[in-house]
Amino acid sequence: MNKIVIAIDGHSSCGKSTMAKELAKQIGYTYIDSGAMYRAVTLFCLQNKLFSGDTLDLERLKKEIQSIRITFVKNPETGQSDTYLNGKNVEREIRGMGVANKVSPVAAVGFVREEMVKQQQAMGLEKGIVMDGRDIGTVVFPNAELKIFVTASPEIRAQRRLEELIAKGENTSFEDVLHNLTTRDHIDSTRKDGPLKQAEDAVVLDNSDLTITEQNQQLLALFSEKI
Ligand code: C5P
Repeated sequence: MNKIVIAIDGHSSCGKSTMAKELAKQIGYTYIDSGAMYRAVTLFCLQNKLFSGDTLDLERLKKEIQSIRITFVKNPETGQSDTYLNGKNVEREIRGMGVANKVSPVAAVGFVREEMVKQQQAMGLEKGIVMDGRDIGTVVFPNAELKIFVTASPEIRAQRRLEELIAKGENTSFEDVLHNLTTRDHIDSTRKDGPLKQAEDAVVLDNSDLTITEQNQQLLALFSEKI
């Protein structure tokens, strides 16, 4: 059976990665978390002191960007892919609020996007992938055979994300998480390069009132229709 490319875009913390991961597992495709790549670049900036307050040293980042290597390696214990930054497993570090609070300005930098998009397109050459992000159906794979645009109300997204962070031992509040995700949505939607926007041929999935099982069933049905 011919393999296809599945692009899943949408707002921050709307469960894109949960649904993309599960779909990829069920249909035997590779899942790629493009947000993890922008998070890893952000961690690199923090570790190498490229931020001074909110100001990013673009000149230094431009010099360094080619040397930032992001890879995904399957973790035999969890069965999931972990994100590696220059050979080091950074899966845990990139998920905290420290990185979440800085990632959108980094992801708005044109040359950062150019490099990430190039790497993402290379990962999709063989098809058989599910990639989630903000610009996958519009910029990275404009010819993807199946495009989904996911959304849910900001309050529902913040509550879900808060529960995840608390389960991971992070000490944060509903207000901080809500502020973080609405700020990211704003920066992501209004940037010049690769803004978050629904592709014209994307199917919209509002999962505010859906369980994970219901959401999976809808995705599988959409996949079967395409195939
Ligand atoms: O998907 P996730 O929330 O982990 O992504 C983190 C951030 O990376 C987003 O808020 C957005 O700024 C950026 N991003 C992006 N383009 C993508 C994926 C993520 O700009 N394709």
